Parts: sequence; structure tokens; C-alpha cells
Amino acid sequence: MVRAAASLLNLRALDPVLPEEFADVYDAERYARSQEYTCRATRAGLWEEAVGLAALLAALGLGVFGWLDGLAWSLGLGGVASGLAFFGLVALASEVIGLPFSIWRTFVLEEEYGFNRTTWKTFVLDRVKGLLLSALLGGGLLALVLWFFGWLGPVGWLPAWTAAAAVSLAMQYVAPVWILPLFNKFSPLPRGELRENIEGLAREQGFKLDEVYVIDGSRRSTRGNAFFAGFGAWRRAALFDTLVETMTPGQAAAVMAHEMGHARLGHVPRLLLAGLARMGLLLFLLSLFLGTAIESEMLGMRPSVHAGLFAFALLFSPAGLLLGAAFNAVSRRYEFQADRFAAKAWNARDMVDALKRLAADNLANLTPHPFHTALHASHPPVLRRIRRLSRE
Ligand SMILES: [Zn+2]
Repeated sequence: MVRAAASLLNLRALDPVLPEEFADVYDAERYARSQEYTCRATRAGLWEEAVGLAALLAALGLGVFGWLDGLAWSLGLGGVASGLAFFGLVALASEVIGLPFSIWRTFVLEEEYGFNRTTWKTFVLDRVKGLLLSALLGGGLLALVLWFFGWLGPVGWLPAWTAAAAVSLAMQYVAPVWILPLFNKFSPLPRGELRENIEGLAREQGFKLDEVYVIDGSRRSTRGNAFFAGFGAWRRAALFDTLVETMTPGQAAAVMAHEMGHARLGHVPRLLLAGLARMGLLLFLLSLFLGTAIESEMLGMRPSVHAGLFAFALLFSPAGLLLGAAFNAVSRRYEFQADRFAAKAWNARDMVDALKRLAADNLANLTPHPFHTALHASHPPVLRRIRRLSRE
């Protein structure tokens, strides 16, 4: 409901007058098209939300979760494995409900506005790889939590948290080197002005870079991106090929300087620690909640650790929205800081032009409603970023 209100406010905040800062990258027609795109994407999001909510209410009313739980137990496995089977079934059902929306977004909406480059083969492979990865990683974490709570009872939250934190930390190192290459091809950025710019920046900032990569983002979409991820020797600097094509070497260097800013200013470890603290808080609350045992009756499920965890996840999703908003507020502050860093390490002019280029190419909403921003946006509205940079 809160999310739907934010979406509706966002639609009402659309302003037909083009902000003057964008006069050189948008004409009236393209600006109108960007607003039409925002409208259609928002309406599709509202539909998806409504269908998801209706499916959840129907499942609660019809006792579907009790039935799935019975199915999981009927396999005759232990508590942990039955819990994994139950969550696996729920995840599969939610995947099936979300799939038509995902297909529509990729092959209708993104296609009509010229963003889509994904073939059906890539789309299917992405889904399969994504499902396998979440079964492996999500399933592994879930198994740890179920096992510790099943073994130690409520005090299990502490070892469960420690183990989950260790897995998350390891993922930070492993993701850029082992997981991202499962989805994209990394190739060395050819010698030239851009590569020299980036190597120069890394030298000045004291980062050791063995290689700068280009990744084939154009295989899926025309949207551009860049990242500077991982730690130490596991670090990877990469630019999407789409970004390399549409930006000048100066603008692309400004984007990379912004990403380096996040690393240099300690944003990555701080957000990581905050995420671990959030996980600890949730596991602790879960330990209090599991003692109450009302959850299984409510859902028609047999009393178990996974029934408690599932009820907890359902009941605490509004609190999750608030926690998410708090994280986004911090993240938006970090974005301003990284912009300022890029203005100093490279220059403000190129950073502004890069942001304008990205916004125009992505048909970004230039006038989001403040409530929508507060709730969902990890990045500040692009106009505010540009105005701040212009003061640098
Ligand atoms: Zn950033």
C-alpha cells in the first residue's frame, strides 16, 4: 500500500517542462517519451504489486502454505531439509507469478523504447543461472539458520549470524571474480585515452590495478554502467561496453572516478557492516518471535523453525521497507560524496555531462516525487546531483 502510494505520487510529480540543465541532451519529443516510459513502467509495477498481494492473500485464505508444508514434510526428510524444500516450493511459486511480468518488461516495454538487446536464449539462461545461484547461496544460508535454531533453540541466532556474516564477507571477495563472469564476458579495455585516464586515476589514488575490463552489457540492454568492486587483489574495475561507446573518454573516466570514490571513502565496508548489523538484528528478533509459536496455527503449518521463519518474514516485511528506506538515505548521501570525489579527482564538468548522458540514454525520470525517492531511491535525483556538482 505504501509502495503503491509512492508510485502514484511519482506519476503526479511528472513535470511536462524540461529542466533547463537538460536542454542539450533532450529535445521536447524525447523528454515526452521519457515521461511516457516512466508512466508505463510505474503502472506495470503497480500491477505486479497488486497481483503479488492478491496471490499472497489467496494463498493465506486457501491454506496453500499449510499444504506446501505438508508436501515438504511428506518427503520424509529431517527438519532442515523439509524447511529447505518448503522455501524452495514457495520461491518457485513466486518465480512463476513474477515470470510473465519479467517477460513483458524485457520483450515488450524495454523493446518498444529501444533498450532491449536480450535474446530469448540469454533470458532463459539468466533465469536458470539465477535460480541455481540463489538455490546454492540462499539455500546454504537458510540451511545454516534453520540448523542452528533447530539445534540450539533461541540462542542459535548468535552462531547463525556469525556463520551467515562469514559467508556474506566471503561473497564480497568472490562475487566480482567468480559470479559476475557467469553472466558477462570480461575482456581487457583496449589501450587508448580512456584506459590511460583510468590507470592514471588509480595511480593517483593509490589503487593497484592489474587490469581494466570491458564487459558485454550490450548483450542484454543498451543501458550503461560501471563498477569498481571487491577488495585488495580481488578488486575489479569494469565498464559496460555500452558506456564506453556512448561517452567521451573524459566522461567515462569521471564515472570510474565516482566508483573509485565509493572505495576510497570507505562506503563499501560501511554499507557491508550495516548490512551485517541488520542481519543480526533480524535474526535476534526472529529468536524472540520463534518462542511465541502462534505462527504455525496462523498459517496452517506444522510447528517448526521454518514455519516460524516464514511467518516472521511475512509479518516483518513492513519493517523491512522502513529499514530499506534508512539504507537508501545513507546510500544517497554516499552518492553525493562520490560525485564530489570524482569532481576533485577528475573534473566536475565531465561528471555532470556523464550524468546527463546516462539520464538521457536511460530515459530517466528527472522529477521523481520526494516520497518515492525517500522510499526506493539508492541514488539522489539526477538534477540535484548535477546542481550540487555545478557548485563544486
Ligand atoms: Zn555511486
